[in-house]
Amino acid sequence: MKSLTLNAPAKVNYLLDVIRRRPDGYHDLRMVMQRINLCDEINLTLTDSPALTVTCGKQGVPDGPGNIAWKAARIMLDLAGTGMGARISITKKIPVAAGLGGGSSDAASVLMGMNELLELGLSTQRLMEIGVKLGADVPFFIFKEPALAEGIGEELTAMPQMPPAWILLVNPGVHVSTAWVYRNLTLTNRGELNRLPASYGSLEDVCSIFSNDLESVTIPAFPVIAEIRAAMLQQGALGVMMSGSGPTVFGLFAARDCAEQARLTLTSGKSWFGAVAETL
Ligand code: ATP
Repeated sequence: MKSLTLNAPAKVNYLLDVIRRRPDGYHDLRMVMQRINLCDEINLTLTDSPALTVTCGKQGVPDGPGNIAWKAARIMLDLAGTGMGARISITKKIPVAAGLGGGSSDAASVLMGMNELLELGLSTQRLMEIGVKLGADVPFFIFKEPALAEGIGEELTAMPQMPPAWILLVNPGVHVSTAWVYRNLTLTNRGELNRLPASYGSLEDVCSIFSNDLESVTIPAFPVIAEIRAAMLQQGALGVMMSGSGPTVFGLFAARDCAEQARLTLTSGKSWFGAVAETL
């Protein structure tokens, strides 16, 4: 049986501007996205029988057809048309519904992994076209580089080289629905777009672009996000922000031990999720 083990990384948003609401209900966005090495582990095995199974065993994540990884695998098996099936197991390390793109990344990894196992030979471009139908952030994880993402997130341009950084993630575990955040967003009339530097010589340059329009909805409803933000800055983060629609807050650090120390200080005695990861 052919099988593959894949690491599906999380992402953080260094910038998230909501430009406008579109007639189709989506929003045009302008995001700077960065992958980090906090990864879900996915095991893919092709089977001779046509059944497709996805097991995850994580509360809040469906097994089977409700799982975005199942949908990704179904598309690839149908494209192959060989009558084979697959067994997929996912070990979730990325917090769920956290603004870290875990589901999208799982789907992207399954598309890329099945392309290899089934020897379909689909191009990166084609995989990204398939991916956007599963979720707006899926193409970014196939693109595999820090990116400026426009449109609904699928128009990707590689960012200029950015210095590597340590990222502290803290998630207070409150439930934030992405759909609720967008429904409650008041779109202000955006004049000139934030200017992005032509190059990023230092981590301060990276932090200079930190901005997330969705904080205006999430922070008033969940003041704990502001509390974590303030504590991270006090612990020496060079910049802090909420990722995506939250509630995960991330801080950028130049050194791993500083990020680790901040993690211990912030999470001790709390039931919050905390992790330190490196940019990819
Ligand atoms: P988004 O910003 O797109 O909502 P997120 O990073 O905040 O993404 P995810 O962890 O991707 O959130 O989960 C969003 C929802 O998708 C969850 O409520 C979960 O039930 C569902 N889901 C389906 N498949 C998966 C998967 N493989 N991993 C995580 N969640 C999944």
